[in-house]
Amino acid sequence: MKKLLRLSLLGLLLLCSVVVNGAQVPKYIFLFIGDGMGFNHVEATQIYAEKVGTDTGERSLLFPTFPVMTQVCTRSASHLITCSSAAATALATGEKTTNYVIGMDAEKNHGLKSLARQLKDKGYKIGIITSASIDHATPGGFYASQPDRSMYYEIGVDAANSGFDFFGGAGLLEPRSKRNPSAPCLYDLFNQKGYTMFRGMDAYNRATAKDKILLFPTDTVSKSLKYAMDRSAKDLSLPDLTKACLANFQETEKKGFFMMVEGGKIDWAAHAHDGGAVVKETIDFDQCIRLAYDFYKNHPNETLILVTADHETGGLGLGNSDMNLNIDLLQYQKCSQEALTAAMREMKSGKMIPSWEDMKAFLKKNLGFWEQIKITPREELELLVCYEESFLKKKSKDVVSLYAKDEPLAVAAIALLDKKASLGWTTKTHTGAPVPLYAIGKQAVLYSGRRDNTDMANVLRKLFLIK
Ligand SMILES: [Zn+2]
Repeated sequence: MKKLLRLSLLGLLLLCSVVVNGAQVPKYIFLFIGDGMGFNHVEATQIYAEKVGTDTGERSLLFPTFPVMTQVCTRSASHLITCSSAAATALATGEKTTNYVIGMDAEKNHGLKSLARQLKDKGYKIGIITSASIDHATPGGFYASQPDRSMYYEIGVDAANSGFDFFGGAGLLEPRSKRNPSAPCLYDLFNQKGYTMFRGMDAYNRATAKDKILLFPTDTVSKSLKYAMDRSAKDLSLPDLTKACLANFQETEKKGFFMMVEGGKIDWAAHAHDGGAVVKETIDFDQCIRLAYDFYKNHPNETLILVTADHETGGLGLGNSDMNLNIDLLQYQKCSQEALTAAMREMKSGKMIPSWEDMKAFLKKNLGFWEQIKITPREELELLVCYEESFLKKKSKDVVSLYAKDEPLAVAAIALLDKKASLGWTTKTHTGAPVPLYAIGKQAVLYSGRRDNTDMANVLRKLFLIK
């Protein structure tokens, strides 16, 4: 009898904890990851927004105003400086792994389960949104378990098998297996698993399918969405994808949702030392967070928004000569280093090689040189030498960074602009600097204090009573 009483008391206690926890867990979870976005990437963008304003007229970023703000340690299991796949694994699964491994333990013996997969089992809708391809390291960390982040085909297979509800990004890097030609095409595999693929917002907006969505750009070859500063109204954007996924989930969710949105090209721009593109990508990322914030305002007691980064890229410094920060000069940069490279290559391949005066006019138009930005005779001489080597003697080689092969004159011109804007870079890769975390909404306070990247999943896991 006593035993029976004890058992029923235990049962009651368990039931209570489930009910209490049911009331404690956020029903709607947004995790925004600014890839490569360190404290200085945010501060440079904040200064830019205050001095120049955003294209949509804001004079501040939104996410730095969130009430909980702290720093996150980004080390991986193998290195003090993490790569994106080890960082994504830590953020998504709550366990650290070796650099270049994705969703597996540090010894590559077994797969790790992400919080997103566990929430999927609880009936949450899961959305994975990125400005890179959906099989890239950061999105992959949430659904894939592979020994190497470059196994894009296998990561794509994991995506098709995930059962996740919405994938939005630049598409797939390896739709056909390079190692096994008889393996099925990933598009067919996704189709078999019940996914519908749309290319571009027009196609998506005409659609009636609401479940298991792939939303990609109309352009089938790009490895990422266009930089915010290079795109036109018809190009698919990260805010477009965020909006589409959120609208879909508002309509279809029954138990809640989890959305991961990656600002992937903050990292790409930082690897290439393109300060203007870093700032514009961070503003674009903020626009996505504003969409979540509007949703939060309607569901304040059920929504949690987390904004963080996987690591810092570039060792971005604010200040390189005196006490002035001239970040406002970045407003004269009209396109990314990548787009400058493309334009210069086209000029180079034309019948008429542009003269130095033509090139000066081009740099004036796209970077404000000599007009809004004073260029000294010595600085002009350095650009001229670079132009002669590249355009006349055709001697110089492309400047290679992780995601780009850029025209030397474009790189020299952007480096000069960054110098004028008081930006400094210490490395072409990642650093071990801590990254910021901003949080608002249900249980945001649990993220206060110095955090480890594994806490992003583990704090929530505890609340959900998931092991
Ligand atoms: Zn990177």
